[in-house]
Amino acid sequence: MTEKIRMEVPLVEMDGDEMTRVIWKQIKDILLMPYIDLKTVYYDLGLKKRDETDDQITVEAAEATKKYGVAVKCATITPNAQRVEEYGLKQMWKSPNATIRAILDGTVFRTPIIVKNIKPFVRTWEKPITIARHAYGDIYKNVEMRIQTKGKAEIVFTSENGEVTKEVIHDFDGAGILMGMHNLDKSIESFARSCMNYALALKQDLWFSTKDTISKKYDHTFKDIFEQIYEKEYKEKFEASGIEYFYTLIDDAVARVIRSAGGMIWACKNYDGDVMSDMVATAFGSLAMMTSVLVSPEGYYEYEAAHGTVTRHYYRHLKGEETSTNPTATLFAWTGALKKRGELDGIQELVDFAEKLENATIQTIEAGIMTKDLAALAEGEKKIVNTKVFLEEINSRLLKALE
Ligand code: NAP
Ligand code: MG
Repeated sequence: MTEKIRMEVPLVEMDGDEMTRVIWKQIKDILLMPYIDLKTVYYDLGLKKRDETDDQITVEAAEATKKYGVAVKCATITPNAQRVEEYGLKQMWKSPNATIRAILDGTVFRTPIIVKNIKPFVRTWEKPITIARHAYGDIYKNVEMRIQTKGKAEIVFTSENGEVTKEVIHDFDGAGILMGMHNLDKSIESFARSCMNYALALKQDLWFSTKDTISKKYDHTFKDIFEQIYEKEYKEKFEASGIEYFYTLIDDAVARVIRSAGGMIWACKNYDGDVMSDMVATAFGSLAMMTSVLVSPEGYYEYEAAHGTVTRHYYRHLKGEETSTNPTATLFAWTGALKKRGELDGIQELVDFAEKLENATIQTIEAGIMTKDLAALAEGEKKIVNTKVFLEEINSRLLKALE
């Protein structure tokens, strides 16, 4: 390499906490800065800085993502009572991911990174399955009641001009439980568009599932909105790309996904997505091999790893011990963001570089050189290395690919 790859528009870089913050710097030092004239606007979302700025730094980082279009984020601590004490925080700040999601609005897509020597638990799966989880409403914004006596439960809607609509939920004979939940057309519409845009970007089929046969208004509205948006705005584009939009019932979807070869985007309602993303991640191997990207309806992208800050490893690192923490998902957050930047700015070199870096990572693992978490899952010969050696092994393969 004689000259570094030039960038035009910067990436929004959101640094984070603990072990992933250590890995973040190693990735930049070993695999990015030597090859790219890396341009970023840097936001430190480390907990200390969030506390110092009353969490304004997180808001600014999200706003910058709207300005520049593509962000890459390191894992961050979501404070709980123990963290408030550990870091002496002014208050228990909200999850940065929730703050960013509230500003960008959008859908989170999670995709496993596949290597040959780690076989998915489901034998037929050959290609990754991406879960697209709706991130608003349903049981996550519900109202619940514990009923202790006999009585009548009703659902009541009072319109802004005072019109009242009522339905009986149940005449209770005795103790029981109640729940009210909602969603918004606007949120479902942006969910649909995010999924359809992402399917076009990846040139993969889009599946969507609900339980519309039982939930004839609630789930049926999800189905209808997807259908209308598809017919009006996306049908021709899908046909031109040779991909399909496919709707089915959630139980049918589960059965079909298990028998499939993978390679689709599976859009799920909020709760279904919560459950199914853990199933898919586990069945493919490990959270350390799962990438995550938030796609806003306006087409802003924020890439990250699906795992947290790997606290237990960090405490060992602080004691001076070497750790074998898997940097793959964090590295793929960078390559995902660089590829998108390259695509948007028409810098093919940047796209090619990111692809070579991904391939070099997969080759390293497939050659049996891996971190400890993967050794427990992989078949064949393997050599466990620490994070830094793993990144250097990737670098030696990357150098060959760049020659
Ligand atoms: P975690 O950081 O994902 O780690 C849980 C365990 O999974 C680790 O202790 C480790 O197991 C294994 N693991 C996860 N990632 C790994 C990797 N890259 N390489 C090797 N092993 C890996 O989850 P957590 O311990 O529940 O959460 C820690 C902190 O992360 C919390 O403060 C939480 O708020 C935050 N968090 C942030 C995000 C985010 O920013 N997106 C997401 C989730 C959690 P062993 O210890 O057995 O090796
Ligand atoms: Mg969950």
